Amino acid sequence: MKAFEATSHYFNQAADVLQLPEAIRKMLLTPMREVQVQVSVEMDNGDLATFVGYRVQHDNVRGPFKGGLRYHPEVDLDEVRSLASLMTWKTAVANLPFGGAKGGIALEPRKYSRRELERITRKFIDGIHDFIGPDKDIPAPDMGTTSEVMAWIMSQYNKYHGFNPGVVTSKPVELFGMPGREEATGRGVGILTVKLCQRLKRKPKDTRIAIQGFGNVGTHAAKFLNEAEFPIVAVSDLSGAYYRPGGLNIREVLTYAMKNGGSLNGFAEAEHISHEELLGADIEVLIPAALGGVIHGGNVAAIKAQILIEAANAPVLPDADRILHERGVIVLPDILANAGGVTASYFEWVQNRQHYKWTLDRVRQELDSVMSRSFETVWDYSRNHNISLRLAAFVVGIERVSRATMIAGID
Ligand code: NAD
Repeated sequence: MKAFEATSHYFNQAADVLQLPEAIRKMLLTPMREVQVQVSVEMDNGDLATFVGYRVQHDNVRGPFKGGLRYHPEVDLDEVRSLASLMTWKTAVANLPFGGAKGGIALEPRKYSRRELERITRKFIDGIHDFIGPDKDIPAPDMGTTSEVMAWIMSQYNKYHGFNPGVVTSKPVELFGMPGREEATGRGVGILTVKLCQRLKRKPKDTRIAIQGFGNVGTHAAKFLNEAEFPIVAVSDLSGAYYRPGGLNIREVLTYAMKNGGSLNGFAEAEHISHEELLGADIEVLIPAALGGVIHGGNVAAIKAQILIEAANAPVLPDADRILHERGVIVLPDILANAGGVTASYFEWVQNRQHYKWTLDRVRQELDSVMSRSFETVWDYSRNHNISLRLAAFVVGIERVSRATMIAGID
């Protein structure tokens, strides 16, 4: 199943609950604009290389388009379209004054030098600068892009449009960024995992966790949950998975990754297991925090966890979601679980517009408050209507967007 088809599947289930007419469904599913640009640059060795850059602007009825930019070999228009629509429902679930967008370039960032990545990014912005802006569309990082890439975007955009730090979020702290943004997605995942476990009357010490993906989101979720006394028994990255049944020493794992260029390759203080073994580990909570589509009909039977927290975007395909639901596994959906990132991006954008800086304490407090409020709304809807948390989150998000659309008028 293609990525956009999977997102549309969840959309249609919620649209059935809301009894949305066919014409409205079609309008809400169709992206407002899809931009595709040629990105041709000179490599360090003098060769010419050409990439394709995408930006899909899905919906902006509730505010400017908002969403990340992904640099990954598997980026294509269908995936970007799917992620853009997820952003629309995510900003609505978190009740932020933004719409949804996503972009990316199909490339493996580790294969290019810093200077090459900078040239690629600036050329991409040359192609799309008229479509983005602090009141139009505000990019942010996603897989394969960093705060440094965001700094290049701001700098290139400003060459055309003048001083506009609010054109992009998750910038370096020294350059109109905000302390607390980098940790926010993983921290939000941690905050909601704790909340969900409290609701399910689970004690942290008896709740073993495995995390797939040890990048920005995975590391910060691990740190937060470990400090909250949950045993993290397995973590993984591209190099493989690392397992210690009694719980990993997360501080040690983080230090190792930091000294090893971000990779866990060669980490010897745990058993080296396969990616599939991590998914099937004997644990209570599974947190996929890497790619989409990793849990599907072919491997869902192996999952033993009773709780699944979607830190990544779209990690569970609909066939697996149906089986998990039938088995009573509680899935905290991506559009709620990882909304901490876009929430903190909103705080950064607000500060850029006001030329005022918040403290880290304030960022954390406000993040906690937005995430908690969103969780309570979705939890209550799910309990009151006896539906899954995923369906409840989609219903809450889609209802807000469809109501705003009707109030704004269509002509
Ligand atoms: P990242 O590039 O910092 O980290 C990704 C991690 O996943 C790396 O450790 C990588 O080695 C690992 N990985 C890749 N393929 C893997 C595989 N097959 N098995 C195991 N590990 C693998 O990316 P990130 O920013 O942490 O994003 C992770 C996910 O979270 C993505 O789905 C992204 O869309 C989503 N997300 C990120 C943010 C954010 O603020 N960064 C916000 C919302 C959602």
